[in-house]
Amino acid sequence: MYGMFKDPVCKMMVDEKSAEHVSKVGGRTVYLCSAECKKEFEKNPKKYGY
Ligand SMILES: [Zn+2]
Repeated sequence: MYGMFKDPVCKMMVDEKSAEHVSKVGGRTVYLCSAECKKEFEKNPKKYGY
């Protein structure tokens, strides 16, 4: 699906255009559904394959 990104933490689909919680890891952009998921992701990106 174009424009959609899967939140690696909760597996929810996030619309890239309206994403408010974005994290950059090793040159890759990761979209998260919430501040909570962003925090969880940034705590340990490797756990989610980054
Ligand atoms: Zn999430």
